Amino acid sequence: MTGGVRSMWPLARRSTRALAGALLAAACVITACSRPRAPASARHLVLVTIDTLRADRVGVYSGVDLTPHLDRIARDGAYAAHAMTHVPLTRPSHATILSGLLPWELGLRDNLSPAELPSSPLLAEILKRAGFRTGAFVSSIVLAGRGGFGRGFDRYDDDLPQSAGADLLSTSQRAGADTLRAAVGWLESQRGADRICLWLHLYEPHDPYEPPEPYKSRYRDRPYDGEVAYADTLVGQLDDALDRLGLKSQTLLVVASDHGEGLGEHQETLHGFFVYQTTLAVALMLRGPGVVRGGRIDANVGLVDVLPTALDLLGVPRPIGFQPSGNSLANALRGGPAPTADSPQYAESLVPLLHFGWSDLRVLRRGSWKYVLAPRPELYDLSSDPSEQHNVVDEQPVRAAALRGTLAKLLDAERRAGTTSNAGGTLPVDLLQRLGALGYVAGDASVSSTGADPKDKIADFRRANDGMRRGILALNQRDYASAARVFEELINSGIESFEVHLYLARAFAGMNRADRAAAHFEQAARRAPLLEDAWAGWAEASLATDGPESAIAIVREGRTKNPRSPQLAVLDADMSLRLHKPDDAVAAFEAALPLLPRDASIRQRLGEVQRDLGHIDAALVSLRDAVAVDPSNAPAWNALGMTLGGNGHLDEAEKAFREAIARDATNHRYVFNLGLALARQGRSREARPYFEKTLQLAPDFAPAREELQKLPMDRRGQ
Ligand SMILES: [Zn+2]
Repeated sequence: MTGGVRSMWPLARRSTRALAGALLAAACVITACSRPRAPASARHLVLVTIDTLRADRVGVYSGVDLTPHLDRIARDGAYAAHAMTHVPLTRPSHATILSGLLPWELGLRDNLSPAELPSSPLLAEILKRAGFRTGAFVSSIVLAGRGGFGRGFDRYDDDLPQSAGADLLSTSQRAGADTLRAAVGWLESQRGADRICLWLHLYEPHDPYEPPEPYKSRYRDRPYDGEVAYADTLVGQLDDALDRLGLKSQTLLVVASDHGEGLGEHQETLHGFFVYQTTLAVALMLRGPGVVRGGRIDANVGLVDVLPTALDLLGVPRPIGFQPSGNSLANALRGGPAPTADSPQYAESLVPLLHFGWSDLRVLRRGSWKYVLAPRPELYDLSSDPSEQHNVVDEQPVRAAALRGTLAKLLDAERRAGTTSNAGGTLPVDLLQRLGALGYVAGDASVSSTGADPKDKIADFRRANDGMRRGILALNQRDYASAARVFEELINSGIESFEVHLYLARAFAGMNRADRAAAHFEQAARRAPLLEDAWAGWAEASLATDGPESAIAIVREGRTKNPRSPQLAVLDADMSLRLHKPDDAVAAFEAALPLLPRDASIRQRLGEVQRDLGHIDAALVSLRDAVAVDPSNAPAWNALGMTLGGNGHLDEAEKAFREAIARDATNHRYVFNLGLALARQGRSREARPYFEKTLQLAPDFAPAREELQKLPMDRRGQ
């Protein structure tokens, strides 16, 4: 079976069900486009990702009248009628868009997966090497640039409003209008650039659904739709800006949603747990040079196809040796043959497994058939049953077996790649907590399935999400008692996870219950050994209850699990100093150095310990390193000066103190030290004003008074 780009616009105005039925027939033939082939390559790329946009809220997909701007873009270009995400979560889905690789190839399975993207080239890196100016403007903390998302971008603007109050739900995202303004400002600053790549990420319509006016009133009973309509307006404004800046005709505009939203169907409120079309079906449309007007791709396509398609339409070759998993749709978009309709598409949800120890869900879609691998497998014919109400796995055993066989091959490849367990617990706790507040509840990170079918666990999942949100908000309001009550309730009702234990421990720590905090930090660390904050929290709580010997043993165990954790290495050094073991502290600091290449204070602290041990040469290396990595660090300059001066290098010490004072002229110790360095060089007249200045800054600082008295009287007034 093959599909093709079609110019049959009116078809898209039918209902989803009729549309799907018609497509099954239509998809069986190549439909050559009746229009002439579109011209050559686009110069610029503008990629817009709209978070949590259900495909069926876009007019061309369903006929609803909610998205006039998106509909116009699709009409002026083309859209993929059966586009899907490979995982219904923001972070891995965007990683696929930017990499052309599937979640298991990326090792990125959920929003809490290890932050690092693999080294294979990302879209912006490829384009930057091809001479593009590259800018990204994202609206959610989930897409913060750390971990590789910013690779290849000249500018990666993940500047989200800082959390001012306790309500993290509204502060972990940036309003679309603000992100758009920043993006358009950047576009304006690139005037005259030969080639431009812009990625704009809009967090509307992700929950909470709080559209601004007039959408709030207009969609009073449908706030999600209000957010969709608002996002559509923002895309229209971006398009106007492209026009105004003279970029529109030369720009490939790609608009995609990263996943949909449950909205209560299949009992799923949000997204990320199940793999129904409510959350897997995405909008995907392209417009610009090389894209025939009014085209429609009927084949199954995935977000993994975006990167190879964009490269082809921009005329940018793939890097040598780079093999994306997606297919280029460029031929089809130019009016040529489309990929075959029955080319399989893969999707997954590992959240039930990785976060709760229940079964994972795996999807294979081929033609109109969709197979869900689960303890109780599911098979749907999306042409006759687009809302997936009739599981026909028992009625269609041969078809189910064939799809399961294809899926098994994919899972074999995944096992060989060995990324299943690559999830959970390596993000900093602040990010973790804010993600939790967004509803990305996580649970037991161990990958030992109880085999429970997620279909049987949706009520537990919703209860867990609800409890996590309430508990985290209470934590942030420093209402530790309420927070502890919520998390204890979750544990008592059988929902245990590393996060629940971590947050409960933080609540107990907030209540100064170090013993109970230690117990739950330990639970969190045991369940998610990569969670360095759990080890650190456990060690600090244990310090209060059992003393430094016990605390350092915990830190050391944590370091064996997290050898790359700077936090735990520094904590080891701190504890070693408490135990009067400076040699151990030096070793721990030295382990932290390569993990904190830009951190001056660690180098300063190391240098001071080395100095106190009498290892002057080593101390000077560390302190010079400190001021080299951060010349603005006044304490590091001062420490360098003290070490130099203490070992007879008074002229160099003088220079270092002057550097410290240049950064902070109000610190009386720096001023005093400079005076001392001058006095020891016999330059009493120069020293005097610094001792006097010291006393102005700190009138009770006796050493300055003493030094003034020591200055030779006969030099006064010289
Ligand atoms: Zn998303």
